[in-house]
Amino acid sequence: MKLLSFDHRGRLGFGHRLDDESVFDLGRALDTRRGHDDRGQIERLLARGPEGLAEADDLIAGSQNEASLRLPRAELRILAPIPRPGKVLAVGLNYRDHCEEQGKTPPERPMFFAKLSTAVIGPGQAIRIDDRVTRCVDHEVELGVVIGQGGRSIPVEWALEHVAGYTIVNDVSARDLQKADKQWTRAKGLDTFCPLGPLLVTRDEIDDPHRLDLQCRVNGELRQQSNTRNLVHGVPQLVAAASAALTLEPGDVIATGTPGGVGVYRNPPVYLKPGDTVCCEIEGLGQLVNPVCAIELEEESS
Ligand code: MG
Repeated sequence: MKLLSFDHRGRLGFGHRLDDESVFDLGRALDTRRGHDDRGQIERLLARGPEGLAEADDLIAGSQNEASLRLPRAELRILAPIPRPGKVLAVGLNYRDHCEEQGKTPPERPMFFAKLSTAVIGPGQAIRIDDRVTRCVDHEVELGVVIGQGGRSIPVEWALEHVAGYTIVNDVSARDLQKADKQWTRAKGLDTFCPLGPLLVTRDEIDDPHRLDLQCRVNGELRQQSNTRNLVHGVPQLVAAASAALTLEPGDVIATGTPGGVGVYRNPPVYLKPGDTVCCEIEGLGQLVNPVCAIELEEESS
């Protein structure tokens, strides 16, 4: 399934992308069948794990007969597939090529940090730069793992059972704050610094999450290009290691780290600026495109 969240004339919901033109209103279909109102709650579906996804698949199979649940893509504003995840964990130094460009040895254990869920934006939404806060904004294309059924102390051999699917994360980073603050809460957590989407592609559609090409282009120019086979710690290891320390919940996202080619390690460094367009692409997951703009002064009080 290719799940996405949307705003349809002010109503929040989620669905399955049928084709370029239409989306099946899965949230409403599930509500109708189950006789309750969970609209907009994609996490409730993910929490049911494989059983919930099987029911969703079944509803989609019968969608030809449900014309009223077929929404024209043009009427939808696409949101991040999980519009407000409970948490977004991210991992530093998790690609061999990204370690090499910094002259660092890959860490023995995953180096987790958090991105703030208020930083999440959807495809097409602007990454907004406040130049009074940062002038060194960088892109990081990353494979995002979306948790289905949650858990604590998940064994590595069961870890994939807790993965609902995959998406694209742009771990936007303020390099000046990252350096000056000595820790990364502001650098990685500024408003709009976590573009996510466009789809949550369920795990059954991705044969091997460790064999996916990924790349990032800025204004069409290739900046990052690698393959998830270069991950230091793979998806099961990350889920197991994270859940050894804290409870993972449905809809939580793990951003698995970025490959080489980020702006800060270019010579000279290159940073994002208003007017740029960033396109992150991962094989099988589509493209996550976001423009970059400046925060206007009059927005301050809002
Ligand atoms: Mg990152």
